[in-house]
Amino acid sequence: MTDFLPFARPSIDEATIEQVVAVLRSGWLTGGPQVRAFEAALATYCGGRTVRVMNSGTAALALALQLADVGQGDVVITTPLTWVATANVIVQAGARPRFVDVDPVTRNLDLRLAADAVTPEVRAIMPVDLAGLPVDRDALYGLAHRHGLRVIEDAAQSFGAQSCGQPVGATGDFVAFSFHANKNITTGEGGALVLPPDMDPARCERLRLLGVQRFDDGTLDIDEMGFKANMSDVAAVIGLGQLARVAEITQLRRMLAQDYFAGLPQDRGLVLPQADFTGSNWHMFQVLLPDNTDRAAVIRALRALGIGAGVHYPAVHLYTAYRRLGYAPGDFPIAENIARRILTLPLHPQMITADVLRVCDALQKVLP
Ligand SMILES: *Cc1c(COP(=O)(O)O)cnc(C)c1O
Repeated sequence: MTDFLPFARPSIDEATIEQVVAVLRSGWLTGGPQVRAFEAALATYCGGRTVRVMNSGTAALALALQLADVGQGDVVITTPLTWVATANVIVQAGARPRFVDVDPVTRNLDLRLAADAVTPEVRAIMPVDLAGLPVDRDALYGLAHRHGLRVIEDAAQSFGAQSCGQPVGATGDFVAFSFHANKNITTGEGGALVLPPDMDPARCERLRLLGVQRFDDGTLDIDEMGFKANMSDVAAVIGLGQLARVAEITQLRRMLAQDYFAGLPQDRGLVLPQADFTGSNWHMFQVLLPDNTDRAAVIRALRALGIGAGVHYPAVHLYTAYRRLGYAPGDFPIAENIARRILTLPLHPQMITADVLRVCDALQKVLP
């Protein structure tokens, strides 16, 4: 019996585990010295920009919307092919998501369609770097500047990736990262928000802790209500250990992706990723099954062979809560087609080439 191969698995080294134990023994568990150190290290990684950590990527996105003063009456352009967090924060801010279809090659927001979707109510655009393949930042910011839009980059999946020669996070307006356990670097649960250049972090710091403002005389006040989104020192010290390994982790993922390209069957109608992956961090390796394949049956058959495969993601506009906003099947045919056929194969830094070949072999067996 071979070991079960999950589609994602965090890689935490022993030194980090010891650091966690040291934090647990220190008597200080909430945000403190480790959070400050993690923020400083992230700022360095992001080319000197101001970064504040949160307890989730979702919280980072929600805070970005509030800091950008996006709310009631505003519209935010985004992709329907994403984790539901992207769209939920827009609705919960009191704004409306305006989905536009994706590019069939990159599977990311089609920026040409996004330009056509701009109307006076559109205040911001929230692109997603699906599977760690960055949306082209030059094209994105060209569009944003032409139309006067704020940009909130949902970079939950693209930590360690590059676009236009720069690390994701080192350029742009707001950039939100996630450190969920399945992401390329993790804190268990967690996230970070890179602030726009020249933004004072004070409001961000207040909003991630309910809006609490503390004064020197010991009194406090709340002027603007915020979230409860601060990170613990336990999480931050895990993040420090992970951040030190981001280049290594990204390199391993890139090698495993190459192994998939070399090993996957060419004669079963699988659609392999096709974009220019130079800057990708290979957060996920996703294939499209032939149209009309019973994907659930393929997933079950792979599971029986000890292989975990995932679906990332169903199209957001077809969830019940989003259909209530007026969306319906057929609205975004490319995203819907991809969402029906997409399959995430195992890819994580503890895998070796033999594991990839095992997946390729299993697919060969289970595909009709
Ligand atoms: C993971 C993810 C999020 C949310 O991050 P959490 O840390 O789980 O809150 C948001 N958007 C995308 C695209 C994600 O993959």
